[in-house]
Amino acid sequence: MSSRTSISFVTLIKTVAIVTAPTLVVLLLLAAFGSLSFDGALYSYFLILVFTTLITKLFLANVSTLTNYVNDLAEDKQVEDPDIKYLSAVSELPRALIHLHHSWEKKKQQMGSIITEREILVDSLPDILVMCNDDKIIVRTNKAARSIFGQNLANKHLGNIIPNDDLLNGVAGVIEELRGRELEFHLNEPVPRDFRAIIERFPVASGGGISVIITLNDVTELRRVEKMRADFVANASHEIRTPLASIKGFIETLRGPAKDDLAVHEQFLKVMDDQATRMTNLINDLLSLSKIEMNAQTIPEGKVDILRIIRNEKETFSWALKDKSMTIKLDVPDNLPNARGEERELMQVMHNLLGNAIKYGNAGTEVVVSARVTSVLPQEQVMAKLHRAICISIIDHGDGIPSEHLPRLTERFYRVDSARTRAIGGTGLGLAIVKHIIHRHHGVLVVDSVVGEGSTFSVYLPLYAEE
Ligand code: ADP
Repeated sequence: MSSRTSISFVTLIKTVAIVTAPTLVVLLLLAAFGSLSFDGALYSYFLILVFTTLITKLFLANVSTLTNYVNDLAEDKQVEDPDIKYLSAVSELPRALIHLHHSWEKKKQQMGSIITEREILVDSLPDILVMCNDDKIIVRTNKAARSIFGQNLANKHLGNIIPNDDLLNGVAGVIEELRGRELEFHLNEPVPRDFRAIIERFPVASGGGISVIITLNDVTELRRVEKMRADFVANASHEIRTPLASIKGFIETLRGPAKDDLAVHEQFLKVMDDQATRMTNLINDLLSLSKIEMNAQTIPEGKVDILRIIRNEKETFSWALKDKSMTIKLDVPDNLPNARGEERELMQVMHNLLGNAIKYGNAGTEVVVSARVTSVLPQEQVMAKLHRAICISIIDHGDGIPSEHLPRLTERFYRVDSARTRAIGGTGLGLAIVKHIIHRHHGVLVVDSVVGEGSTFSVYLPLYAEE
């Protein structure tokens, strides 16, 4: 607490008395030796007293201004340079103090900008930083931490903010053993996430400063992709192993028990041929998928004539249609505008969807392919900026797909009725390829199906000229 000082009357009198004491002695001696009358000596002393008091008062006022100035500096208050003109004539001290104050201010500003820079640096780190003391009370956090765990984290217990035993035990271990460590943990709230934590120990500043810094890396996506990749490899191997095992079995039979039976030879060779075709289809689909994934980040910008693609695909499937006594009805205007995309990939979309409609449609039924420009668009983010799009619908009359399967239909190797679709010859990758291509084109796939009636697969694509 600073107390403002001011000159007291007693101090003034005391100072004046001390300063004028030698003069009084000289005047009294002059009076005693008769060089000055006693009255003259008294008058002279009185005049000297008055002038000295006036001068001393000004001087003392400056001293108390300077004292207040130094007190304010010590308390880090904002201060103006003091007006101490009477004092500066006497000594260099006031100027030295003002100089000290200015260099102090400069250093404070430098420190302030260093702290601000470091805060900006820590805040701009994508990793989550949480700093705690030995009692696991949060001392500081960065922006990434606050955006995930909420604002005002300081002074809260780490366990209340990140309630995970693995992490808390890890932090306790680091505090005890004085050695950093790394660990992974899973959090269910607010959304399920996987984190990799690096816990480092730092010397404790007095007063319970930072002792532990926890750096968290969100590895949820990484783990998801790793799992997907592992599942994919397992599924793909399984899909290839099945026809291979079957071919191997037939070869053994042909070499052994059915060695001389020509009728059986013919029958088995046909099955082996089918299995080899199945593997070829599977490998082709896998290659297509990987090629599409490699280009996933670039949006195709070409001009694509959808009507031409539909007519070509109808032609391609003419034999399969005849086989099942099915027909295709086209409902597409001749002046259908171009879509924006890559022709080869959109041909594959049409090929897979039309192929499925024929594969899963009932024999003797009609498949309808319609295409039109529409302003009624699905409520998807990619469609938000569009006013219109081309909608291509492939409508079949088959068994349909029960609604519980619809959300998973475009997953790799997902089949509604595994045994039946494998028998039909499907790879389980057709719709995954369709989804990836449409996604790359910033389009949308919508599937509607009624069990016992059939399915409609609708593809929405941006128009070529549309911004
Ligand atoms: P597949 O090569 O097995 O046909 P897809 O990825 O093309 O693989 O399709 C996935 C699954 O979706 C199919 O196995 C099938 O069960 C179902 N499905 C696809 N299209 C249709 C359709 N038009 N009608 C009924 N079911 C379908």
